[in-house]
Amino acid sequence: MNSELKIYNTLNRETSIFKPIHAGLVGMYVCGPTVYSNAHLGNARTYISFDIMFRYFLHLGYKVRYVRNITDAGHLEGDRDEGEDKFAKKAKLEQLEPMEIVQKYSLDFHEVLRQFNTLPPSIEPTATGHIIEQIEMTKKIIANGYAYESNGSIYFDVEKFSKAYNYTALSNRNLDELLNNTRTLDGQDEKKGRLDFALWIKAKPEHIMRWQSPWGEGFPGWHLECSAMSSKYLGNEFDIHGGGMDLVPTHHTNEIAQNIACHHTQPARYWVHTNMLTVNGQKMSKSLGNSFLPAELFSGNHPLLERGYSPMTVRFFMLQAHYRSTLDLSNEALQAAEKGLARLLNACKLASQLKTGNVSSFSVEELKDKVYAALNEDFNTPIALANLFEAVKYVNLVNDGKETLTAADQAALAQFLNQMVKDVLGLKPEQEAGTEKIDGLMKMLISMRAEAKNKKDFATSDFIRDQLKEIGIEIKDGKEGTSFSIL
Ligand code: AMP
Ligand code: ZN
Repeated sequence: MNSELKIYNTLNRETSIFKPIHAGLVGMYVCGPTVYSNAHLGNARTYISFDIMFRYFLHLGYKVRYVRNITDAGHLEGDRDEGEDKFAKKAKLEQLEPMEIVQKYSLDFHEVLRQFNTLPPSIEPTATGHIIEQIEMTKKIIANGYAYESNGSIYFDVEKFSKAYNYTALSNRNLDELLNNTRTLDGQDEKKGRLDFALWIKAKPEHIMRWQSPWGEGFPGWHLECSAMSSKYLGNEFDIHGGGMDLVPTHHTNEIAQNIACHHTQPARYWVHTNMLTVNGQKMSKSLGNSFLPAELFSGNHPLLERGYSPMTVRFFMLQAHYRSTLDLSNEALQAAEKGLARLLNACKLASQLKTGNVSSFSVEELKDKVYAALNEDFNTPIALANLFEAVKYVNLVNDGKETLTAADQAALAQFLNQMVKDVLGLKPEQEAGTEKIDGLMKMLISMRAEAKNKKDFATSDFIRDQLKEIGIEIKDGKEGTSFSIL
């Protein structure tokens, strides 16, 4: 491999060679989900992007500690200490306990990421499991003079901090402008400065998720948990901190301020941010009402979808854009991704079965160089894929008898293609062992259901459909007959 891995760093807005703090090891912290609702496809895009980085570091031989938290407390509706607690609100709505909400949506999140074939992180800490660490951190920040108590809550003193450090280093925003765009304080306010944010929030009598602290009963602020958990598991200084770009101006800016105020050091060397998945050019978000649930995409059960697409098709679709570019969801793009994925996976299979010859007019070494060069250029998956498709073209030509490959090249190509596609890009064949038997059984069930329907025996036809759904197989009636997808 000729090139070295380079990563774009939001902190200095430069792409530079990745140098880990400890040779051979990577410490990576990625902000996890706030588990108060179903993970949507935009969230999935962010975690698929970090999954590619995780997989690539592993492929390069690094030992990676990948920490991704679960936010299960402390996230208020307005990201700036305002509004209702997201968990309490949802709990009321669904008539459940807040921790039932947490359990329900943590399970959903894990299931979604499993369907997309992402690797589990090395550690998945929860905010509620680290209250003591958050209280300790708050105490230190107060002792260092960067936080103050006000009516049982603790606030971070941004004005004081910004006299000593650059508070807006990450967002590169002008502090005065930021101040002018933030609402002014009124007489009721507990904060001293407009940009101050809560480290600890006093619990109102009705607040369920509350803990004892030196300042009375309360709960930690959202930004604090990531500072406490990242330093606990990765140390005061670690390699990579990631999340979606929308976290830069507030959540990550405040995390950096907290870490510096507590440990006198910037926590991460590289701040990596993923761009947004959009729908008709608008960020996919729950609050805008334009979000797609992965399950809706797999089943096609959504007004904007013509039909369903498999999890691997969606993953492939996402890899066709660089993680720092926006990506717009559309039927056309998904249909093209479906075809591309099928061609790629087919070539992986074909490559190991090709007839070999005496000469090759394809250089596997050159292919490897190009693919590594792309991935080393800030994990550029679209270019890596474009290069892999050059190999796909060649595999098909050899398969059609129009080109030849030596036995050594054939073995090297088959190995490299499979390793890249399956291990690094995390694309796996949709249906593995037993596919033919499953197809046969499904054909039988679909015809039994059709027969039941013909006889107007809807109890039986619905029974077949519902039982299949329960085991994760969805059948869909379309113009060209009935098809099925494994969820
Ligand atoms: P949340 O659960 O809202 O805290 O979001 C979890 C992660 O998903 C964060 O890193 C967000 O930045 C990211 N995210 C939210 N919406 C999108 C989107 N439309 N596209 C990509 N990432 C997103
Ligand atoms: Zn975070």
